[in-house]
Amino acid sequence: MKKIDLKPFVSQRDHYGKKMALLFALCAVKKTSFIINHRNIEKAVIMSEQRSYRKSFIMDMDGVVYTGSKLIAGASEFVDRLIQGGYKFLFLTNNSYHTRLELQDRLQGMGIKVDADCFYTSAMATASFLKVQRPGGCSAYVIGGKGVLDELEQANIEVTTKKPDYVIIGETEEYDYAKIIEATLLIQEGAKFIATNPDLTGPSLRGPVPACGALVTPIEKVTGVSPYFLGKPNPVMMFLARKKLGVHSANCFMIGDRMDTDIMGGLESGMTTCLVLSGVTDREIMNRFPYQPDYVFNHIGEIDPDVILSRRDRVENEAQP
Ligand SMILES: [Mg+2]
Repeated sequence: MKKIDLKPFVSQRDHYGKKMALLFALCAVKKTSFIINHRNIEKAVIMSEQRSYRKSFIMDMDGVVYTGSKLIAGASEFVDRLIQGGYKFLFLTNNSYHTRLELQDRLQGMGIKVDADCFYTSAMATASFLKVQRPGGCSAYVIGGKGVLDELEQANIEVTTKKPDYVIIGETEEYDYAKIIEATLLIQEGAKFIATNPDLTGPSLRGPVPACGALVTPIEKVTGVSPYFLGKPNPVMMFLARKKLGVHSANCFMIGDRMDTDIMGGLESGMTTCLVLSGVTDREIMNRFPYQPDYVFNHIGEIDPDVILSRRDRVENEAQP
């Protein structure tokens, strides 16, 4: 049997790559032949790319990259290092109000120029979740901003008031009594209740303001039905974000400023967690939690993507004599 070098096609650590390699080894032992056609190789390459073990970075935005309209020290340089190093990365936000183009514009206005594909919001997680849950399509009554409406439209989810499958709540500037009543009645009539994220407050120049987690409260109280929250710390959102990047959790870093969303979400989905003290958490607050991050930095500029080790690599390094 002709020996074929698979290295150009599959990563050494890739599960599917290993499967292919084992298949070839078996063929060699049994002296049987295996037809390698273009589709087999293509499948191996695609599967290898789907689950890359290379270092990758997912970072929260507010309190990590910027505060309000002010860029946090070292954020721009950190993103430059990610780009220069060829690392895959995503900006992850629970806020479902803004579209990815608006987020791209916002960062560009602060001097960080990245592709619109570098953003992942709870609105995107909600649309992806519903596509998986209801592959045949579904409908929803929505109280939410352009961010969530755009993503639902792209996922072919019909927005309607007539017998919707779901009621979806996200951040919005149009939250009125008539809409609260409609959502309440639709849930009592059988619609499932979903919220894009559990955040109770969002930032504003004059102080905290109600966010999605607060907007669901009157509907929840009246119906007795709690929504299913898609945003951080739900590992579903973390999984979907990594799926978008095409990376495995073992060498993926979650950088955030909140213990109860960013760090918990990273921890519960098997990622290496980095807390930055440039947002809402200081060391005293951090120490109150029963779980701790893998790393603590004053700000994102202190993180060296070339040097930092994932939890898995730290364990491997310590195990070496
Ligand atoms: Mg934050």
